[in-house]
Amino acid sequence: MFGSHLSIAGAMHNALLDAEKYGMETVQVFTKNQQQWHAKPLDDAVIRGFRTHAERLKFNHIVAHDSYLINLGATNPELWQKSIDAFAEEMRRCDQLGIACLVTHPGAHVGSGIPAGIARVIEAMNRVLDQQKNGQVTVCLETTAGQGTTLGYRFEEIAEMLAGIERKDRVAVCVDTCHILAAGYDLSTAESTRKVLAELDRVIGADRVKVWHLNDSKKPLASRVDRHEHIGRGHIGLEAFAVICQDARFRRVPKILETPKDQAPNGRDWDELNLAILRKLTAGKKVVLEKFIEPPSHQDTKKQITTA
Ligand code: FE
Ligand code: ZN
Ligand code: FE
Repeated sequence: MFGSHLSIAGAMHNALLDAEKYGMETVQVFTKNQQQWHAKPLDDAVIRGFRTHAERLKFNHIVAHDSYLINLGATNPELWQKSIDAFAEEMRRCDQLGIACLVTHPGAHVGSGIPAGIARVIEAMNRVLDQQKNGQVTVCLETTAGQGTTLGYRFEEIAEMLAGIERKDRVAVCVDTCHILAAGYDLSTAESTRKVLAELDRVIGADRVKVWHLNDSKKPLASRVDRHEHIGRGHIGLEAFAVICQDARFRRVPKILETPKDQAPNGRDWDELNLAILRKLTAGKKVVLEKFIEPPSHQDTKKQITTA
């Protein structure tokens, strides 16, 4: 089940229409401006528009990504509380729109250390889930690249968070391939990828993975720097994506592209190109990457929307 992070500019349901145009089975969206704390409440027409198209397209596994401002590991009490409130609001918006999964970066410990940061995240999640106890959306903790003091770059940290969160039925995991490579999990060959998947299954449990983010990485293994690259054109390469896409355990799991939205050469569209590659790899077909004369500039990934 493939999708991409698509823009809601103009109207929430525009992301669904674009996913339809690409022939995708799902989509990932922000439900508000990801760079701002507040958003005006969703009005009935917006909700109706989104739900109508989601239903028509039979999209039952739509994914949302939360705001980058939220830090449930914050040490500053005001920022922590603000993050909890904002995250609860994100969950409410997902429920209003009928979105199944809300992906979140677990947070940053900002100097307090990993154990204290994890404890803070667990406490925040338990409060939010208690507050939203009648909600529907599943919170998916995303594996991170480990930039700065971000938490969740080791599978063990994610597992610890899962263990501490009381509502097991409301929490799961999103694995981002670019992030885990940057964090030190070797996805450079089919064999190394199978080992990483075995470790993922042992530490977290493959059944806990409810979303995949399929991105190649501009930065090398264990660089701890998060820079997304087009499928097959970074330090991951095609083999890992073939292994993941062909894995029966993840067949029904949304696989979302968060690759750059820059213009492909010759008027081509990167989402279309990357999706076609993933479909071929899923079918076990050989993929030869098209050679573009001018290497695409990935510096400006903020042109349309930024996903991390
Ligand atoms: Fe991601
Ligand atoms: Zn990222
Ligand atoms: Fe993310």
